[in-house]
Amino acid sequence: MTPPNRTSTGPPSRPADRRSPLLIVSLAICVGTLVGCSSEETAAPDHIFLVTIDTLRADHTEFLGYPAQTTPFLSKLAEESVVFTNAYSSAAHTTPAHASLFTALYPDQHGARENGQPFGRKVDTIASVLQGRGYRTAAFSSVGFLEGLQFGFDHFDAFQRGASIYRPADDTLDRAQRWISEQKDRKPLFVWVHLFDVHEWSTVRQEDRIRLKDIEVASELSIGQMQEFLREEHGMSTGSGSTEEQRVRGIDSYNKRIVLVDNELQRFFRTFQESKKSGDSLWIITADHGEGLFSHNYKGHGLRLFREQLHVPLLLHSTRGFGSGVRIESLARHVDILPTIAELAAAPLGKTQGRSLVPLITGDEQPDRDRTAYAQRKPVVSQKEGSEPTPEEMRTVYDLRYKYIFDSRAGEEFYDLTADPLELENLIENPPPAELKRFKDELDAYRRVFDRRRVRGAKVSEETKAELRDLGYVE
Ligand SMILES: [Zn+2]
Repeated sequence: MTPPNRTSTGPPSRPADRRSPLLIVSLAICVGTLVGCSSEETAAPDHIFLVTIDTLRADHTEFLGYPAQTTPFLSKLAEESVVFTNAYSSAAHTTPAHASLFTALYPDQHGARENGQPFGRKVDTIASVLQGRGYRTAAFSSVGFLEGLQFGFDHFDAFQRGASIYRPADDTLDRAQRWISEQKDRKPLFVWVHLFDVHEWSTVRQEDRIRLKDIEVASELSIGQMQEFLREEHGMSTGSGSTEEQRVRGIDSYNKRIVLVDNELQRFFRTFQESKKSGDSLWIITADHGEGLFSHNYKGHGLRLFREQLHVPLLLHSTRGFGSGVRIESLARHVDILPTIAELAAAPLGKTQGRSLVPLITGDEQPDRDRTAYAQRKPVVSQKEGSEPTPEEMRTVYDLRYKYIFDSRAGEEFYDLTADPLELENLIENPPPAELKRFKDELDAYRRVFDRRRVRGAKVSEETKAELRDLGYVE
């Protein structure tokens, strides 16, 4: 691993630099830039890619400590990228998580609270902000139900259901590649690619068997050592409902799909870099949320707000070398990604819930251990026999040391993340009082912000509901 070096690499021409007389007087500097020929525009990356790998837990990537070769390509890329080791989603469910990533707002503010739900109001998104900055914007989603997030995209290619229920990574990436090669002018591109293969780890389909049959997940650990790792450091529970053999087999299936996606991403990345289009590009690679994978006796995602549900990988790779080799432990949130892109692309941005990560990368801002993250669960309505349906609420606020969860049904939880990173021992009966108050106050502050302008979600179409049922979501 290249040692972090915060002084040798700066961001690509930050706003102050753009006023340099040299940049202003010489049109020659515009040769080779695809954004345009004003001095201001030379600051932006030529192309920006956002890759979301659905359901990828951060701790299943090698570059964040998984003891097997799940991500050979991304691990290599990570050595030349900024790696955020503590990056978190705002929701453990696909549509709200993506919507928060795109808008730097929380689900109560953009209105896309559950799968298939479009934004509830007009919002700035990564796509619309970059579109306004002169980028041509395109999305390639491996499912159809994210179509409600298409605001700001010039081209939105969502999977259309047919014989299969999602589009495999190679197909989605091929379509993106084709679209890119069809763009013959020099306009800068923003491309979002959503890959769904890892999400489907627990299903067995013939076409997936064929695609996965030659994939191996190499590890130096013996089977026994891996099982011990999964129990002690991954949080794999010993609870009822499955045998350890079944759990390990399930996790192996999950890992193989990560390798598959990693291979396909390598192909996509290299093809683009070797193409005439390449110029300089910025790649942001993350996941929408994590996965239970038997931690806390839970396989899936969406209903819980534990670490395994919210902790996601986050890489920022600039072909200019910005931040190459820097690892940042400060809390980084999905809501920080839009402000970060806006700063790097020198695009104007209104008020959001996030803040740019650029100063952390350059070292202009020191790590702030009191910085907190917020997440909320999708809406759930419970109904006891003979009583009215009751909307349930689950929200969490945390920093790198403590985590508070408010669950209107099951009560409160409080975790000491230093002593208990897997969030197994609820300290709510005997918490550090000042800390508990700090987190409760902070959650109240979030609620007050949301209450000022709570956005109702738009209706989910019948077609989308049918797709979600086919994908196994319980509606
Ligand atoms: Zn998802």
